[in-house]
Amino acid sequence: MKNLRQTLFAALGISLTLVACSTPGFRNLAPNTGLQAFQARRNVIPAPELMVIPSPNQNPRPEGVKPDTIVLHHTATAGTAERVARFFSRPDAKVSAHYIVDRTGYIVRSVPDNMNSWHAGRSAFKGRPNVNDFSIGIEICNLGDSIEAYPDAQYDALIKLVAWLVQTHQISLDNITRHRDIAVPAGRKIDTSNNFSVARLMDGVQAVLAGTYVTPPNMQPPAPPLDNPEWRTVRVQPGQQTFEDLADIYLDNPQRAVEIAALNPELREASQIPLGQLIRLPNTLDYWDTHVH
Ligand SMILES: [Zn+2]
Repeated sequence: MKNLRQTLFAALGISLTLVACSTPGFRNLAPNTGLQAFQARRNVIPAPELMVIPSPNQNPRPEGVKPDTIVLHHTATAGTAERVARFFSRPDAKVSAHYIVDRTGYIVRSVPDNMNSWHAGRSAFKGRPNVNDFSIGIEICNLGDSIEAYPDAQYDALIKLVAWLVQTHQISLDNITRHRDIAVPAGRKIDTSNNFSVARLMDGVQAVLAGTYVTPPNMQPPAPPLDNPEWRTVRVQPGQQTFEDLADIYLDNPQRAVEIAALNPELREASQIPLGQLIRLPNTLDYWDTHVH
């Protein structure tokens, strides 16, 4: 009986292959999508362990819309994922994301996948506006200065999280993007920073989906604490005229302009911040709590 069943399945397989190969236009069917789906069915990717710190900054997705896109951000602070999630849990922050990946590799969920989180702002992806409506936002803890390295443990956690989301929601790998690629107007955002490797992420995700991923054996620890934990400086570039502009581009949130104002009191009265001016940016979210409110 077993042999008969095997024979039947083998015969069915051969005939299906013949039908597929002889069907006109078969090669035009997106082969990667089929392969992905096959691989996804073969390896059930385990759900990552999640710390849950809910954010009120969410709203229902439009009727019938499911997430089909993943948007990557950096947090632009030295704070932990838990600290960022506590910030997202405040209504006055007016921002959130679905997930926050800590430097050490733990993950916090702020908003469930079936709801919009408020991470993309004015945005468009493949011609579709309001990316929040159809995307999952992931924050990667990093200063975003293109100097702080992204530790191995963080890549590892991010790779497994993204692969799990891809499998869970059947997201095309083409629909994994960065905030800087979808922000409107173009150039409004810089995350993820230049030293974040999209190639490393994508290679890892494909390996997880294929069941060939190997967790790095000796993961590098996160970078040591900053020399100055309070703030860092940047020089004002063309198009950055107000604290809101600076907060939007460097802190990923125009609401945080109040923190930049608190750190740069000498410029509060300026109608326009001079080009080339050195500006202090907060490294932590503590400024919001202790100095502003
Ligand atoms: Zn962002």
